[in-house]
Amino acid sequence: MKTRKILLTESEIPDKWYNIIADMPNKPLPPLHPGTKEPIGPDALAPLFPMELIKQEVTTDKWVDIPDEVRNIYSIWRPSPLYRAYGLEKELDTPAKIYYKYEGVSPTGSHKPNTAVAQAYYNKQEGVKRITTETGAGQWGSALSFACNHFNMECEVYMVRLSYDHKPYRKIMMNTWGAKVFPSPSEATEAGRKILQEYPDTTGSLGIAISEAVERAASNDDTKYALGSVLNHVKLHQTIIGQEALKQLEKADDMPDVVIAPFGGGSNFAGLAFPFIRLNLEEGRNIRCIASEPTSCPKLTRGVFRYDFGDTIGMTPLLPMYTLGHNFVPAPIHAGGLRYHGAGVIVSQLLRDQLIEAVAHDNLDVFEAGITFARSEGIIPAPEAAHGIATAINEANECKKHGVSKTILFNLCGHGYFDMKAYQDYFEGKIVKHEVSSNDIEASLAELDTPLIN
Ligand SMILES: *Cc1c(COP(=O)(O)O)cnc(C)c1O
Repeated sequence: MKTRKILLTESEIPDKWYNIIADMPNKPLPPLHPGTKEPIGPDALAPLFPMELIKQEVTTDKWVDIPDEVRNIYSIWRPSPLYRAYGLEKELDTPAKIYYKYEGVSPTGSHKPNTAVAQAYYNKQEGVKRITTETGAGQWGSALSFACNHFNMECEVYMVRLSYDHKPYRKIMMNTWGAKVFPSPSEATEAGRKILQEYPDTTGSLGIAISEAVERAASNDDTKYALGSVLNHVKLHQTIIGQEALKQLEKADDMPDVVIAPFGGGSNFAGLAFPFIRLNLEEGRNIRCIASEPTSCPKLTRGVFRYDFGDTIGMTPLLPMYTLGHNFVPAPIHAGGLRYHGAGVIVSQLLRDQLIEAVAHDNLDVFEAGITFARSEGIIPAPEAAHGIATAINEANECKKHGVSKTILFNLCGHGYFDMKAYQDYFEGKIVKHEVSSNDIEASLAELDTPLIN
């Protein structure tokens, strides 16, 4: 029998996270104060985040110890399996070898608990009683609810009204772990009340939900805020994925030529790719790392590199990133986790330095890739994850065309079992091609008055 799953034992769960900043030839530029536009120090983040996470946000240490208690919780689902995609290879009739790392085995069905558990742990250590956050599609809210429950902390989730109404099972999942979930905008915050007064029927937005969660954390001493992507410490925690994958491929006596992951804010891409970029930087290897984004929200392939706000309202520090502009409103595609206007700071710098690549896929191609995968490998992917599958299929088809065999690794960062509505829409012919127009991008970028970067 051929080996399909390459597994590690629990004792092989890595005991350190990898910090790519230590190896970057050009370090990330500093965040700027939203008002003064001067560089801010770590202290500016203290009202929102525990000190240990702020330290991790700025550290240049190459390795950061993973606390035993965090590894202990990781062992509920980690090490996650690495699969050889024999079914997909056969379906594509490609000479390429395809592997995927499956993060859908976590309790919430995606990679997000890798950082949620770590964040909850450090908050608990520093005496925090309650963590607030926002959630769009519900994946991050579920992950933080699961993590807070483990540490007996309260979790308050501001869920974009549209998702709250359309994805009730994500909400119930959060409630099951004891979280309080508010449809955002809510009556629980000043920001929410203000918006409800003006627009009582609004379906909400991620920007509004962030404002609510931040307000709650900033105005209560025992409460902090948590983010599920974009920030450096989030990417750091996710490197557990790539480190495991590297060990697993070594076991299979293989090494990838191409590493692929879908891209929202950059956390699952960073998680899988950074440990392989380390090999490029340390040993002069030539592993291509490709981020896959939607053509409806193409910040990496069509955005600009400049300072921009992390939120819609303009409250967060200004970050040096590839962005479509913080007012950019992407089309309502089902891959909710990829509908973010900007890319995390580290990944943006890596792209600028041409140490990574990016491609964009149309919504319809993405669903076709997802269904090809479901029919050849069995697992139904999250629409976000299907972006990485689309890139992997393209790479495998190139191998076939040129008669070369390459080893392709991609991140199956989540399953799609809460996304049946998306698949239903596909089967009913409601998923259509969508590429944002140059006019829309230019109009959004023209509104920016944030600092430029030479
Ligand atoms: C949140 C999410 C994403 C996008 O976020 P990243 O930080 O870019 O990883 C992608 N896929 C899944 C399954 C998600 O839950």
